[in-house]
Amino acid sequence: MKYLSTRGRSTAVSFSEAVEAGLAPDGGLFLPEELPDISPHLKAWESLSYAELTAAFFQLFATDLDAGILKDCVLASYGRFDHPEVAPLKRLGERLFVLELFHGPTLAFKDFALQLLGNLYEEQMARTGKPINVLGATSGDTGAAAIHGLRGKRGVNIFILYPDGRVSPLQERQMTCTGSQNIFPLAIEGSFDDAQKALKETFEDLDFRENLGLSAVNSINMARIIAQCVYYLYAWFRLPEESRETVEFVVPTGNFGNVLAGWMAQKMGLPVAGFRVATNQNDILHRFFQSGVYEMGEVKPSHAPSMDIQVASNFERFIYYAVDRDSAQVRRIMRQFKETGFYRFENFDADTFSSSCTDDNEIEATIGRVHREYGYLIDPHTACGFSDLNRNRTSVVLATAHPAKFPDTILAATGQEARSPVLDALKTRDIVKFPIAADKAAIQAFIKDHAVTCHEMEAG
Ligand SMILES: *Cc1c(COP(=O)(O)O)cnc(C)c1O
Repeated sequence: MKYLSTRGRSTAVSFSEAVEAGLAPDGGLFLPEELPDISPHLKAWESLSYAELTAAFFQLFATDLDAGILKDCVLASYGRFDHPEVAPLKRLGERLFVLELFHGPTLAFKDFALQLLGNLYEEQMARTGKPINVLGATSGDTGAAAIHGLRGKRGVNIFILYPDGRVSPLQERQMTCTGSQNIFPLAIEGSFDDAQKALKETFEDLDFRENLGLSAVNSINMARIIAQCVYYLYAWFRLPEESRETVEFVVPTGNFGNVLAGWMAQKMGLPVAGFRVATNQNDILHRFFQSGVYEMGEVKPSHAPSMDIQVASNFERFIYYAVDRDSAQVRRIMRQFKETGFYRFENFDADTFSSSCTDDNEIEATIGRVHREYGYLIDPHTACGFSDLNRNRTSVVLATAHPAKFPDTILAATGQEARSPVLDALKTRDIVKFPIAADKAAIQAFIKDHAVTCHEMEAG
């Protein structure tokens, strides 16, 4: 299987090359040359465990990796989840199900992709002997998930910039209390925008980037999307047979990575009715699916911060399919959007998507209502999926984070204390962080001093 760029100006690459590069050289995103048809496999896959299903699914995509090595990466990744089913499907009502995606090490769904990506990086490093220094900026969840995907990995160091004092105390603990020597949380003076700007400048220095083998961690790596397809399959197998083909998956959405994975599984032959794009008050995608107009807004901080986005970085992959894989058209759309912050799709077809948006008041009200009706605690991101549900159809709401990650909102909405032993344990550990100015020179100097080098790897 080869991978092509949505913008059509990069040569086709292997799975490993697409994983290593992240972004395609022409600025586009990688996608498989052709989507495999999974329908002939469904029967055989039905009884597989979560890890077995992931390995079987990935074999269709990672055709340049040895099947045994792939399986080891997968087993190592999902062995660290704290539920034997990895992604348990719970039934709340006659037609209402919730898919719990918060049993990984950082208690949010990003662990599904980043645990696996961490193991794939390590494997790649062992094969090529090239050390990897990973650099990213985070406002919370992605950084924590990336850190936990890479902690303790040989030949990989990770540097994560975050705005000091502006991530939640629990998120900071998740990043800074790992006790791992290869993790460097860099607490930036300033806002998340300052951190991102410093990140961008550091990456734009191509010499520096080359010399240090610098790699990005972000939400656009193709392997992340493939990893996220699996839990849609897994959930589908666990639905009553008579509901499978009419189910709508309801997906709390920010960068469109999670819901895109489900939609791609449908395009590969998983027979489901469709997907609901559930946004918070940052509703660019809701407005798009209602009108066909893709228009940038201002980011308004919300109770569901991991969905506070202005531009959905994975949306370009949807556009590529929506214009029948016409890369020239994708380039035109992305150029116009970049220049004007606006694009109108003519003859717009929402395909199998529906959408909703939920503001902070409704988030709190929904958390309270779901707790009263079902005795079940949901986090503020998941709450966006529970508002406005169509009760006449079978819905699977994806629970993207554990409620204990947002204790204040849960307490205000329900009077209940949301707890998790994983988070409680963090509170007793030492914080290790590196305060630094949001400045390219300072960051580069720090990375130079702490980068993993070939020499060290031979010695270690
Ligand atoms: C990242 C995140 C989301 C949004 O996922 P996208 O793939 O960006 O749409 C939703 N909920 C939580 C808890 C997240 O961490």
